[in-house]
Amino acid sequence: MALTASLLSLIKEEMEKAKAEHLLSVRIRYGSLSNVVPEAMEAAFEIQTMNMPGLQGASLELVEELPLLACGKCGTQFSSENKSRVFKPCPACGNELGNKVLSGKGLYLDRIEVDDEIG
Ligand SMILES: [Zn+2]
Repeated sequence: MALTASLLSLIKEEMEKAKAEHLLSVRIRYGSLSNVVPEAMEAAFEIQTMNMPGLQGASLELVEELPLLACGKCGTQFSSENKSRVFKPCPACGNELGNKVLSGKGLYLDRIEVDDEIG
């Protein structure tokens, strides 16, 4: 999975900056509208870190974020309450069409926890 590979290089970069040698855990946030499949991501992470000293055994936490929308009429920002109803009417003016999706498609590294003992 290419996604996991790019996350891993980001993690390694962060670890280098922190001069950390052991990764303990990683938290990743992903939007409901991204095509992340948590189970697949967890499996890919485990497989890809298996042979990486310092990264093997680290735990991966995936946090799903609901999409943030902006009303196409009045500009009010609101989040969708559940992922199966992404397109809900604006709470301020009731507008249903043309609402913009501001976030919910992304994937980013939220936090890494490392063991910073050198050696
Ligand atoms: Zn509105």
